[in-house]
Amino acid sequence: MSGTSTPTAAGEKPHVVCMPFPAQGHVTPMMKLAKILHGRGFHVTYVNSAYNHRRFVRSRGAGAVAGLPGFSFATIPDGLPPCDADATQDTVALCYSTMTTCLPHFKALLADLNRRAAAGDAPPVTCVVADGCLTFSIDAAAELGVPCALLWTASACGALAYHHLRLFVDKGLVPLKDAEQLTNGFLDTPVDWARGMSKHMRLRDYPSFLRTTDPGDKMLEYGLHEMEHCKDAAAIIYNTFDELEQPALDALRADFTPAAYTVGPLSLLAEQLVPAGGPLDALGSSLWKEDSTCLEWLGGRSARSVVYVNYGSITVMTNQQLLEFAWGLAGSGYDFLWVIRPDLVAGDAAVLPPEFMEATRGKGLLASWCPQEAVLRHEAVGVFLTHSGWNSTLESLSGGVPMLSWPFFSEQLTNSLYKRLEWGVALEVGGDARRDVVEERIREVMAGEKGKEMRKRAAEWKEAAARATRPGGSSFNNLDRLIKDVLLKRS
Ligand code: UDP
Repeated sequence: MSGTSTPTAAGEKPHVVCMPFPAQGHVTPMMKLAKILHGRGFHVTYVNSAYNHRRFVRSRGAGAVAGLPGFSFATIPDGLPPCDADATQDTVALCYSTMTTCLPHFKALLADLNRRAAAGDAPPVTCVVADGCLTFSIDAAAELGVPCALLWTASACGALAYHHLRLFVDKGLVPLKDAEQLTNGFLDTPVDWARGMSKHMRLRDYPSFLRTTDPGDKMLEYGLHEMEHCKDAAAIIYNTFDELEQPALDALRADFTPAAYTVGPLSLLAEQLVPAGGPLDALGSSLWKEDSTCLEWLGGRSARSVVYVNYGSITVMTNQQLLEFAWGLAGSGYDFLWVIRPDLVAGDAAVLPPEFMEATRGKGLLASWCPQEAVLRHEAVGVFLTHSGWNSTLESLSGGVPMLSWPFFSEQLTNSLYKRLEWGVALEVGGDARRDVVEERIREVMAGEKGKEMRKRAAEWKEAAARATRPGGSSFNNLDRLIKDVLLKRS
């Protein structure tokens, strides 16, 4: 399939309702997919939580959610108490509230869209693409008789790790017997029996939600429920590419999600399919106001000379950890671009001591949010110190940038192991982020032998990612199959 028009069997324009989980790392890849589908002739309704809708208006202005011809925005409530902060919501509360409260709101929205379609405002809804963490949307789509595909915005190895959680419970490993198992070496137990996972995996490399002693743990309940229900979707769309994650994808297809379509990295696919500089391209998805001055600053630096530090949208740390990173960076002697969200330090404002500012004068740039994709493509960046969220990981691989990994929670722990031991592009910084370790690892990646090897591997992954998303590549072709075999089919 090619070109921009994709009529349904009845000759109408197809209408896809795209609904991300309401957090930055989900909103961005869903927006890329929505733009791609719009480019392929779909009418798009993009559904934000009411909370995030207000944040978009504050960070980007009302125009950000005004829409375009054939591309509208809608909202549903997330089920949490009303709040007008510009901060990441509590993950556990948000997961649980979306799982338990959003279905009737989503059904009402779909019914409303179809009422308006009957009045001639837009075509009727013909398919749903919802987040892999919002499986209630499968039930809403089924009621309308339209297919529902789920976009899984994390890694395939992360998806497989979540699917295996049921096995951990069945084997009596999870919940943990007692809190001691968190610290007595139990988490170092190798796990060589989970099909499709890296042979290097230990309990500690699985998503952090297994680290609970509570049989009624809400995140565990949520994870098990979502992974079970996602098997009822018409398809799972993975934001990854075959060459990177073939063993995990094979196991997912064999045991859990047969109709799996890899279309990533979505940012590269969108670049192929969404005209640059046009109004569709201009639709942003950043919940914070981006500070673009860092690109000018990078422009004045030589190739691969800068350490870029960013922990994504959810990670929080203690003030002591912040200080360790600060002095590690200062000690390395390299220039750095360090993004510190206003809510990065738990329960407090992030404050760096004047001695640090003095010691690094002229060497570092601090920002509170940046256009990360552009930063990671800038030739001045030599290493990315990251929490290993999946979008950050893909963006780093797409830019050919090696990483220092400081995973915070969830499947970031799994990504971290894969990027070190399977893909050869990262070293890890320990959980306590000791300044001497931070300093030594930065030096190793920037100037050591291991760093040289990692940079070479990263360049190879960069090329593989580009290959997958170019015409004829696996992700490029899978998009066409997804549209034809799933999104345009009436169930
Ligand atoms: N991001 C950004 N600017 C920043 C920090 C993050 O644009 O200063 C984007 C980043 O490019 C990525 C997303 O926010 O697309 C973060 O997603 P990820 O999966 O890496 O981590 P999460 O925030 O979900 O933990």
